[in-house]
Amino acid sequence: MPEFTAGLKTPVRYIKGAGPKISKLFERMGVSTVEDLLYFLPRSYEDRSLIAPISTLRPDQEVLIKGRVVKAKAERTRRGFSLFKAVIQDESGSVVAVWFNQAFLDKVIKKDKVLYIAGKAIYNNYSGSLELNVKNYDFYDEAQNEQIIPIYPLTEGLYQKKLRKIIRTALEKYLNVVREFFPQKLIDQHKLTDLPQALQTLHLPSDLSQIENARRRIIFDDLFIFQLGLGMRSSFLKKRQAGSVFKVEGDLISRFMDALPFELTGAQKKVFAEIKQDLLSGHAMNRLLQGDVGSGKTILAVLTAVLAHRNGLQTAMMAPTEILARQHMAKVSQFLDGLGFKVVLLVGSLSNKEKKVAYKIIENGEADLVIGTHALIEEGVKFKNLGLVIVDEQQRFGVMQRARLAKKGKASHVLVMTATPIPRSLALTLYGDLDKSIIDELPPGRTPVQTHFVTEAKRQSAYDFIKKEIRAGRQVYVVCPLVQESEKLDLKAAKEEAMYLQSQVFKEFKVALIHGKVKANEKDRIMRDFLDKKINILVSTTVIEVGIDVPNAAVMLIEHVERFGLSALHQLRGRIGRGAAQSYCFLCGNPKTPEAKSRVKAMLSTNDGFKIAEVDLKLRGPGEFYGEKQSGLPEFRLADIIRDEPILLKARAAAFNLLKNDPSLSQTENIPLKAEVLRRYKKYLNLGILN
Ligand code: ADP
Ligand code: MG
Repeated sequence: MPEFTAGLKTPVRYIKGAGPKISKLFERMGVSTVEDLLYFLPRSYEDRSLIAPISTLRPDQEVLIKGRVVKAKAERTRRGFSLFKAVIQDESGSVVAVWFNQAFLDKVIKKDKVLYIAGKAIYNNYSGSLELNVKNYDFYDEAQNEQIIPIYPLTEGLYQKKLRKIIRTALEKYLNVVREFFPQKLIDQHKLTDLPQALQTLHLPSDLSQIENARRRIIFDDLFIFQLGLGMRSSFLKKRQAGSVFKVEGDLISRFMDALPFELTGAQKKVFAEIKQDLLSGHAMNRLLQGDVGSGKTILAVLTAVLAHRNGLQTAMMAPTEILARQHMAKVSQFLDGLGFKVVLLVGSLSNKEKKVAYKIIENGEADLVIGTHALIEEGVKFKNLGLVIVDEQQRFGVMQRARLAKKGKASHVLVMTATPIPRSLALTLYGDLDKSIIDELPPGRTPVQTHFVTEAKRQSAYDFIKKEIRAGRQVYVVCPLVQESEKLDLKAAKEEAMYLQSQVFKEFKVALIHGKVKANEKDRIMRDFLDKKINILVSTTVIEVGIDVPNAAVMLIEHVERFGLSALHQLRGRIGRGAAQSYCFLCGNPKTPEAKSRVKAMLSTNDGFKIAEVDLKLRGPGEFYGEKQSGLPEFRLADIIRDEPILLKARAAAFNLLKNDPSLSQTENIPLKAEVLRRYKKYLNLGILN
């Protein structure tokens, strides 16, 4: 027998009871080795000492019953769903148990079988009796005398009993191969259950009270090892990527500052000082700059680019949309006017000829600052001496895209900027190894946006209000969820809405339309006309969501607010409130679901991007918050970074503390730990993309 069959890497099919067929089913759930199996943890537990007599069931009660199948059959509802129904009887009475969409159960649940069923009692209006909507079921087994029963996630064809048996076999045979990799000190300090014990308890608990602690061990483990990975990567990067040391004082900066039409806010100055520190430190900057919409991040990016230029290095600045890249281009050129600074635009819509010219001066070093979109990371783009990479609205980019841009330089300094505030739990995980700067102050003279929900009955008065604002010199955004009307969705679309508003509502004003399908140079012209106040009302889709900066726009009306996510709404609203005038945001639409209602409520109750992000994270969960694939957040066994934030904080402190004393985890007691970190995160460590 090959050696590996003795260890945790043994394929599941070698376990007694799990032949090729069963192991295929396991495979479907991501379980292929004994190790996977040991970590295939129950999703809940049933306490079999708490069986309710059927006669005591009450509507809406969650219960566990035990009884004999008297009758069973598969049915179809009028709407075409399949049901499986069984009459279950115990000494006290009987009830109909209902399984949804599991017609195949008629091969499994047969008359006279004795079952445990956990579920919710529901009053069925149609039949006039109580039914039990089944959550879990299991066959009664005389030989089984445990009270606390683990309930595993299932897949069709694999049942609790079988699964438990296989896992139990695996535990008996292989648990002794599982080695604790936590140092004893850590276990003592945090009162953790040791690993074999934790696995044993989670699969075969003898009483409920132990489960909590065993779960805590696995959660701590998930988060602790991840934080170690982050910490090791960060010091690895610092060591390897000796960044170029900048000379940071110079006439250029002061000339630049003098030419600015405003003075930096205290928060901007503080952040700029932090950036300069990094550039002086001798290792590559790896900094996340957070600042709510409108807080003035762009100017810091430009200042940093000026420093790079001063030190003979090129800067690449990547933005998620072409509109934004072009806006940056216009703005930055204006800031840098007369400083002998060559700025180049590189976006997808350039002609091949234009691209070639851009490529050339990027490669020969003539270009000091390249502003662009994803076009920047294309193969053909080669820099002469890229020394600074800036990613604007970085949450819009995937981890790989950021990494690819940075790799175009040698040990580039990296500054990523975001207006999406990162809730603490994410900051500590996703961004755990980035240094952070926060602009926590808006430029002076801004008044917070007033946000109102507008019912259909009030729509006309909102329009009247908008007219008044336009007469007072302000400009307006109207945001629609779609470009064009569609037959399937009864939604206001930007095109039709623009036509309607121009011809019916705002005849005396100039209404224009912008959306993703408008040609690039046309977009450019529209945005410029809007900036030059030649347009009063700009009807748009979410193409204006990020970054757009027209300080005179003071009103925004959002149609079908229920169609937008919370962070999109906050970003959209961030387009107004950028000048001195009081700004207004009107939300129209019909939020019906609880989530949509919560989003509107959050928008009405706060302008604080941080609070908005917290609500958003709660509503959507971390995966969706940043996009599962992009996020770089690993799949944890049990940890949930929102629910488990207190443990996360402890695990992080413990991890960084440990690394302080033993940065490469090479002390004897830490070696198993290091192996575990590498086993789980080597891929990320190598790619340098753990953020
Ligand atoms: P964001 O952080 O959302 O990217 P921007 O960089 O677009 O914000 O800045 C928003 C607006 O505030 C811009 O018009 C910018 O010129 C202006 N601004 C930036 N810093 C200051 C400042 N210190 N004083 C006044 N206006 C500023
Ligand atoms: Mg910006």
